[in-house]
Amino acid sequence: MTSTWVGTSWKMTKTLAEARAFARGLAAAEPALPAEVQPFVIPPATALAAVRAELPASSRVLVGAQDAHWEDAGPWTGEVSVPQVADAGARLVEIGHSERREAFGETDERIRLKVHATLRHSLVPLVCVGEPAAVRAAGGQAAYVAAQTRAAFDGVAAGTRVLVAYEPVWAIGEGGRPATPDDVEAPVAAIRAATADLDAHVLYGGSVDGENAPALLDVPGVGGLFVGRAAWDLAGFLTILRVAARG
Ligand code: PEP
Repeated sequence: MTSTWVGTSWKMTKTLAEARAFARGLAAAEPALPAEVQPFVIPPATALAAVRAELPASSRVLVGAQDAHWEDAGPWTGEVSVPQVADAGARLVEIGHSERREAFGETDERIRLKVHATLRHSLVPLVCVGEPAAVRAAGGQAAYVAAQTRAAFDGVAAGTRVLVAYEPVWAIGEGGRPATPDDVEAPVAAIRAATADLDAHVLYGGSVDGENAPALLDVPGVGGLFVGRAAWDLAGFLTILRVAARG
């Protein structure tokens, strides 16, 4: 995986009409997008199929799911499975976002099961790892994310293609402090070491915008960006895609 990956998760935002409008605009802009950047969009489950349908069949834009259950089907009210999100057009599955770890009790073991379910159906897992503020304050960030990464990919065959987003919890969302390149370097190196036998691509996420994107992309080992708020409107997403293509 040599491209620079740049994607956005819309979390719990956007109506179907808003999702379709974004996807239509992205499809119209796609011919001018830099070839060296791999764009991806992760809508809420309600809009996954609609977003995929708005993109041409030949689109380079990959669509992902924000989560998926580890079982293929069954009595799991409220959940969606990997075969279901694949059927709706997903090629990626985001797993283990800190909001899911914190608010929904997502454990390392569930994350591992979801990684295996995703791979079983030939989709690419995008595993989010990142330390809380207290761990950073104590200097334990590299060991913390290495442990999360190893747990997520335990039992995954060597050479498997995976994505990992380093997203320090204190850098994400409203009130988040954007990480500096210095903050990012050692945890990314630790993630890369923990995935040395995989075909892993490491992204940075947390309060990314068009201004701080270039410096974050310059951090050794960072192969792309995972963006929330700054990419929820199409103009913001396109700005970051273009910034990511520089030099
Ligand atoms: C995220 O929650 O994964 C994220 C990157 O959000 P934001 O860019 O809004 O901080």
